[in-house]
Amino acid sequence: MNIVLMGLPGAGKGTQAERITDTFRIPHISTGDMFRAAAKEGTSLGLEAKRYMDEGQLVPDRVTIGIVRERLGKDDCARGFLLDGFPRTVPQAEALNESLEVMGRHLQHVIYIRVEQDELLKRLTGRRICRDCGATYHNVSAPPKEEGICDRCGGSLYQREDDSEETVGKRLKVNLEQTQALLDYYRSQGNLREIDGNQPIEYVTDAILRILRSTVS
Ligand SMILES: [Zn+2]
Repeated sequence: MNIVLMGLPGAGKGTQAERITDTFRIPHISTGDMFRAAAKEGTSLGLEAKRYMDEGQLVPDRVTIGIVRERLGKDDCARGFLLDGFPRTVPQAEALNESLEVMGRHLQHVIYIRVEQDELLKRLTGRRICRDCGATYHNVSAPPKEEGICDRCGGSLYQREDDSEETVGKRLKVNLEQTQALLDYYRSQGNLREIDGNQPIEYVTDAILRILRSTVS
């Protein structure tokens, strides 16, 4: 059960990753966690990655791929793994394929949770925060009783700059371009499975688990 899970910010990737890894008892390997663990273990690649991150720079592919390779070689990955946040680019995807081949393994599925842009915008720009007590709300998933007003203290709610349509839109655009190239690559490899992520969370989970179970039996 070797899986890559893909989805744009707001697509619900984190939630689905947890459900998949709980169901199949495989490790959830996210890039951030992997970097932190490698740095803590003090491996030479881990320390190198930490230096880049401390300087606020992107960790180069050579280092990232090395860390992924070490991580996938650990005992807990013997029955499979779920990669989240890696690969991000086509060269990384090619390097992952090569590494797996050396290990005598391959990717069974690349799951992409597809959500339309305007829905992602709605999800990602909906957060509101209370100026007085810091309580957070969401226009769609956790709205206050009265619009713009905090349930807890009656303070006024505001939107963070990071959550503005302009900022979120820019972030999505960059992500989408990268994702598109990666989707094309995996489509050509024949292991891409697209899931409609506009449905309720439970439906998305069911759809993913159905696909994964069909390959186990
Ligand atoms: Zn408040």
